[in-house]
Amino acid sequence: AQREPIEDARPKTPVKPMTATEVKVNVSIPEAAERAAATGADGVGLLRMEHMILSTGKTPAKYIADNGKRAYVDQLVEGMRTAAEEFYPRPVRIRTLDAPTDEFRQLEGGDDEPKEHNPMLGYRGIRRSLDTPEVFKYELEAFRRMYEMGYDNVEIMFPLVNDAEDVYRAKNLMQEAGIDPEKRQWGVMVETPASALGIEDMAGAGIDFASFGTNDLTQYTLAVDRNNENVADRFDELHPSVLKLIGDTIETCRELDVKTSICGQAGSKPQMVQFLAEKGVSSISANIDAVRDVQHEVKRVEQRLILDSVR
Ligand code: PEP
Ligand code: MG
Repeated sequence: AQREPIEDARPKTPVKPMTATEVKVNVSIPEAAERAAATGADGVGLLRMEHMILSTGKTPAKYIADNGKRAYVDQLVEGMRTAAEEFYPRPVRIRTLDAPTDEFRQLEGGDDEPKEHNPMLGYRGIRRSLDTPEVFKYELEAFRRMYEMGYDNVEIMFPLVNDAEDVYRAKNLMQEAGIDPEKRQWGVMVETPASALGIEDMAGAGIDFASFGTNDLTQYTLAVDRNNENVADRFDELHPSVLKLIGDTIETCRELDVKTSICGQAGSKPQMVQFLAEKGVSSISANIDAVRDVQHEVKRVEQRLILDSVR
């Protein structure tokens, strides 16, 4: 028999290097899920829930006032489902609402949002969710509906937590919404120095993972507003103090059997990827266009570590 030409023998899908650190992808809007899934990423490291609402041009409160609670939950379920279906059974980590009030203020209904001097230090993320459980519960209801539909690849992530109290309170609300934390993968973002330094106590609440939000962790560690161009040259995700917080947190999490990951922009940068892969981070979530490069960078670091260990 004649040999087949080499071209035909090649696999049709891109070959993904096998690595100990998984490489996931950040999905900005549910509509990008198909392109993201085609990268061969090991899952979604971050899908932001606020975009499912912001895309309607309304604040959550306005959306609920106009369309009702049921439609609000449906809107969230639809966005989550698009991504969860595209990636199934690969895990899809979905983050509860985290938009600063200045972003909400630009939307329909925005006039009812609080006016804050420092929105980045203000009413956002889990703080607002815990303060308004009557709204937060619809997000959790959307998660519960996903599980009822069989999307067991969905993971829940809470933004901007500071300490164990935040985590226990979020966990309680999850349980009240009919979600069993023992059965589901859930965790927190590490975005403030307080959360990095207090990771051991937070782990005690039973989180499965901690994900570095380096956009915020950098801004809060260095006191450099991430949106202020006057200090943009001081915004350095590779600053030794930021890396120390991240490195120490990874070490503690490894001891406590909590998975670690990164879902901030720095996860797409080679130097950060090197640092994290060496530290043994569980996963790195990169932008769609960076997934391939990150996969190869992780592979290169891991091969070097193996060679070093046998030399
Ligand atoms: C981060 O802070 O790094 C992050 C991923 O969250 P966001 O950019 O939505 O604040
Ligand atoms: Mg953040």
